[in-house]
Amino acid sequence: MSLDDAAEELASDLGADRAEVREKLETLQSYSVPLEEAKGSIRREFGDAGGGGAATPSETEIAQIDTETGNVTVTARVLTVGKRSIRYDGDEQVIYEGELADETGAIPYTAWTDFSLSPGDTITAGNAGVREWEGDPELNLSESTTVTVQEETLEVPHEVGGERDLIDLQPGDRGRTVEVCVVEVERKTIDGRDGETEIKSGVLGDETARLPFTDWDPHDAIAADASVRLEDVHVREFRGVPSVNVTEFSTVEPIADVEVSESATRMSVREAVDAGGVFDVELVGNVLEVRDGSGLIQRCPECGRVVQNDQCRTHGDVDPEDDLRVKAILDDGTDTVTAILDREATEAVYGGTLAEALDQARDAMDRDVVAESIAADVVGGEYRVRGALSVDEYGANLDCEAFEAAADDPEARAREFLAEVEP
Ligand SMILES: [Zn+2]
Repeated sequence: MSLDDAAEELASDLGADRAEVREKLETLQSYSVPLEEAKGSIRREFGDAGGGGAATPSETEIAQIDTETGNVTVTARVLTVGKRSIRYDGDEQVIYEGELADETGAIPYTAWTDFSLSPGDTITAGNAGVREWEGDPELNLSESTTVTVQEETLEVPHEVGGERDLIDLQPGDRGRTVEVCVVEVERKTIDGRDGETEIKSGVLGDETARLPFTDWDPHDAIAADASVRLEDVHVREFRGVPSVNVTEFSTVEPIADVEVSESATRMSVREAVDAGGVFDVELVGNVLEVRDGSGLIQRCPECGRVVQNDQCRTHGDVDPEDDLRVKAILDDGTDTVTAILDREATEAVYGGTLAEALDQARDAMDRDVVAESIAADVVGGEYRVRGALSVDEYGANLDCEAFEAAADDPEARAREFLAEVEP
């Protein structure tokens, strides 16, 4: 049913203004509230008790649920429970999210009211809704769902609880628990929905990987080099990689030191691009080209965007600041990626500072000489690069933390590779 049809039907049922109903529906949908749930909310708001009264649907196995399935009744084990708040009409609403499993499969759920679910519980959810989330079915436990805790434990072929290594986290995960070391952290003030808000952000690490994080409710225990157990975090995609989100509902406890993996994940460019982004990856390839926008560049002092002719897209006429950057196309035979070097890395490749680059440009009366001299050094060479790879509609970019010439001797590299793959 389209939003217009739903608004029409609801408005006529409730004797309300169609445009007003449509706007409310739209707001709810923008918070991913499923249509049926949104209609129920609006009915209640207009004081309509609603029809309800539908018979409880028959028991369904999780493996049989698809995005076309109507309401179902399932008996399942609660694997994880995460708590999160969303906002509707200016009010905070707390929702619960996680996964349920039976012998046949597992499925994510969202509970719009507090059923006091705990990981490990075996429950029967009567009249649960099914909605589609990124192509897959998800269960909705709403006010019209009945949840009964069963005394007998359902054995399921899935791990109960949200404990994971960082390498196993995926965008969309909820109710996860990780034990990590805070590798980097900084405080930031952002323009949140309630005006200026303090947050913490940085990088977490464990033995398997490193990932960025945001702490929306700054916890004192999240400090540089501290090891912490984070319970009830969720994972979102941020700049193409999974990012750990710590909230007011997360528990943060100091723990004994956690070892952090020193090495990045070694991948081919194709593998990293197919993964949709990798936070800390190592690639080895040849530089095909140094792209336009490399060498001496100028940035807007307000927003940091690269500007040309003193014109920022947002801030108009500005007095730009000089900077150095390299955008190098790297090819390893499987695919290409644009490796982006910041000022420090560019100075290392250029073999001089920003001030020296400005001198060279002034002497030559041409700013392009800096990019040309960098290109003369790196094009054709083989480089080992490490950093965060993200993918968008324009292609793959790697923000380089390290950019160094690969071993010249192919035999040495083969030996090194063998040493890595042999146990
Ligand atoms: Zn600007």
